[in-house]
Amino acid sequence: MHHSPRHIRPDTVTAVATGRLGAVLERIEKETAALGEWGSPADYIPLLAGADPRRFGMAVAEPDGTVYGVGDWRTPFSAQSITKVFALALVLSLEGERIWQGVGREPSGNPFNSLVQLEYENGIPRNPFINAGALVVTDRLQTLTGDAAGRIRELLRAESGNPVIDFTPAVAASEAAHGARNAALAHFMASYSNIANPVPDLLAAYFRQCSIEASCADLALAAGFLARRGVRTDGSVLLTPSQAKQVNAIMLTCGTYDAAGDFAYRVGLPGKSGVGGGIIAVVPGVCTLCVWSPGLDRRGNSVAGVAALDRFTTLTGLSVF
Ligand code: GLN
Repeated sequence: MHHSPRHIRPDTVTAVATGRLGAVLERIEKETAALGEWGSPADYIPLLAGADPRRFGMAVAEPDGTVYGVGDWRTPFSAQSITKVFALALVLSLEGERIWQGVGREPSGNPFNSLVQLEYENGIPRNPFINAGALVVTDRLQTLTGDAAGRIRELLRAESGNPVIDFTPAVAASEAAHGARNAALAHFMASYSNIANPVPDLLAAYFRQCSIEASCADLALAAGFLARRGVRTDGSVLLTPSQAKQVNAIMLTCGTYDAAGDFAYRVGLPGKSGVGGGIIAVVPGVCTLCVWSPGLDRRGNSVAGVAALDRFTTLTGLSVF
């Protein structure tokens, strides 16, 4: 017996008009606050531990550069692992597939700073968004450009149109002071010849990269090339459409560490989190989002941030699925 499709509702994706996304954000801000679940800020460095977990900001950028937001959407915060997306995009744009010799593309199922898989897998990290994989990417960017962190800052400034985006030297210094685990990862991979630069130089570049401060508005705009099939704000090509699709795919499967399956289930978008409490997400062809709230869950993802993105895709119907 055949069922007629008369109960299928109109596609909510196309029903969302530009102006209405602003109203959706206001509703999400209220609903997220009402949940009253904020998690706890990252405590591995004092500068992040002091953040107020009730702070919340969210921005949406459209492919034409229109951006709007709610709450603390213009407040700079520590971008941390969100910068890993931009590092990967730069390396792919400079030399394409070569990076996959040193890093895989599989979800790790392990915490972002885990060491355990590396020995079994001969010093080749699972993916570019766990710390070990990001160290390989930054190492390659350092070799290719001589200034990995500077290139990432430059890309963020250009794509957001905000020329004051910068490193936070005190955060970078604090990361270095508490960097034993990242140093262990880097040295271990160097023992497999999977790191080319001197480990201290690589760690300095990585900690500078992680210390970049930017706002939800900045990061939603800066990620726009991922919604525009690789095209930058000035119309030039950063990534091919295929590479942009690949970066989005890796964000979906690996962007929130060992919670990537749950994030895909709840949010249904490519996303990348950082321990500063930010998360960027991409609706290819439609918009990019960034949400920030410093309280984290035990896997290092912003509690209110994931909840807000969950509500966004539920309310708008926007998703890659
Ligand atoms: N700087 C942090 C670290 O390397 C970044 C980790 C993260 O944001 N998940 O430990």
